[in-house]
Amino acid sequence: MHHHKKIVIIGGGIAGLSAAVYALRCGYEVEVLEMHDIAGGLAMSWRRDPYTFETCLHWLVGSKPGGDLHAQWQEICDIDKLTFINPDEFVCMQNEHGDEMHIWTNVDRLQEELLRRVPGDAEAVSEFTRTIRALGKFRMLDPSGGLTENWLNLLRDMRTFPLLHKLSKMSGRDYGNRFTHPLLRTFFSNGDVGRLTSIAMILSLAWMNEGNAGYCIGGARSLIRLIEEKIAVLGGKIRFNARVTRILIEDNAAVGVQLAGGETIRADWVISAADGHTTHFDLLGGRYLDKATRRLYEHGDTFASYIQVSLGVACDLRDRPPMTSRILEKPIAVDPGTEVDTVGFRFFHFDPTFAPPGKIAITSVLPTRNFEFWNRLRQTDPPRYHAEKHRVANTIIEVLQRQVPAVRGNIEVVDVSTPATVFRYTGNWKGSMEGWLLLPGEGMKPLPSTLPGLDRFVMVGQWVLPGGGLPSGPITARPAVKLICRRDHVPFDLHAEPKPEMVGA
Ligand SMILES: Cc1cc2nc3c(=O)[nH]c(=O)nc-3n(C[C@H](O)[C@H](O)[C@H](O)COP(=O)(O)OP(=O)(O)OC[C@H]3O[C@@H](n4cnc5c(N)ncnc54)[C@H](O)[C@@H]3O)c2cc1C
Repeated sequence: MHHHKKIVIIGGGIAGLSAAVYALRCGYEVEVLEMHDIAGGLAMSWRRDPYTFETCLHWLVGSKPGGDLHAQWQEICDIDKLTFINPDEFVCMQNEHGDEMHIWTNVDRLQEELLRRVPGDAEAVSEFTRTIRALGKFRMLDPSGGLTENWLNLLRDMRTFPLLHKLSKMSGRDYGNRFTHPLLRTFFSNGDVGRLTSIAMILSLAWMNEGNAGYCIGGARSLIRLIEEKIAVLGGKIRFNARVTRILIEDNAAVGVQLAGGETIRADWVISAADGHTTHFDLLGGRYLDKATRRLYEHGDTFASYIQVSLGVACDLRDRPPMTSRILEKPIAVDPGTEVDTVGFRFFHFDPTFAPPGKIAITSVLPTRNFEFWNRLRQTDPPRYHAEKHRVANTIIEVLQRQVPAVRGNIEVVDVSTPATVFRYTGNWKGSMEGWLLLPGEGMKPLPSTLPGLDRFVMVGQWVLPGGGLPSGPITARPAVKLICRRDHVPFDLHAEPKPEMVGA
């Protein structure tokens, strides 16, 4: 069904790659242009021998065969080739006085733990665990339903269940306030989780309880590699070190792109899977925003950026929980204007590909909204930039050594990435980790993927779907390619997958 129509896709993150697969399966010729020398965008890890440090993957919604979203991942790649694990524990909340609370992924076990630890909160605990069970029952995301229909389904479910409607209007922090135990309150109010609609965290727990939010061995890169393989099999092309600087427009229609260096590439359609701010304001010169979208870019709330301290430690820490979140006695100064009073660690003993036996990769992510500080420092004062990275790393190492004394003297590798790093490698506005915050009461509406006055152009990715996450890739890519097919009178038929030898024939 090849029809000699070409789509260029800007950005090789999960969204750009997902769009590439859908377009190839519908017979389009596809060229993905990625500015970095590797695909994945935020879905990334890096190697510092002998360790690998993951930045993205905690859980992948859709990991369970037959579960919500699984069928959609199967449209993109052979997801069942990945090895998923479902950790028993989501996070262990701790303070510096030795008090701990385990947030188990199994809801029965979680209920038992919470009722035992905070009997005074029995009513709130029961409502919490009841909600986790209830949310696990809905099939909210049906790929064949399309984006709008799915969100309408969700809203309908919310109306049917007043409890869910109420939750969607409540922030994580407000939800946490119904509990008296400080560790439990912190679980709901920590960082951006406290500002998001409470439904985000409870839904994640619901998916974990169902075993449908697993971690795949090898982290996010293993998923990205699978999709790259699929693109290659289907005859698609990913071009690296190809930074798009401009979208070419003729007669109010996108006709291709220009790369840094001046080369132009013509196409029938342009899909931008790059950062939304770059797309609107750099590649399109700010000419195609409707009022609401412009207002969002002026006043909207984005997820924080982050500093990641990654440590390679020659210790066997298999007995640690996979993730801890520790409330500190004294807050830590991250940068001007940013203090954190809770520090999380991920202990990657559950992924044998990340360290040799007897050793472990440990990461800590510190959220900050002071992107400017780090970006300016990196550009204008490299020695101070490095000194600040060093200072933050040492502070975090201190916290870790208090928590796990065995680490002392065994740290072999220290790696620090900053918001400037996130920006340099992914182009995300203000180094944001997930795009727009899904705020309470704002509904969960996607942004328009087509722009007023601009034909033959579509946007996909985390900047189109508030809340972001890896699923936002396929969830936005599918309707985008469907729309293109409809306009071109090409059947959106994923069963008629073209044979590789036919592609480009
Ligand atoms: C710390 C952290 C933890 C996370 N945890 C999870 C999790 O557990 N589960 C989950 O589902 N999600 C998680 N996420 C979110 C998830 O990683 C993102 O939402 C998702 O990867 C975004 O994909 P994207 O393709 O929309 O954007 P991106 O990944 O940002 O991809 C955009 C791509 O476009 C390229 N690009 C940008 N500008 C240009 C240009 N001008 N020319 C060419 N190329 C360009 C970039 O290099 C990049 O590759 C996490 C994110 C972070 C940072």
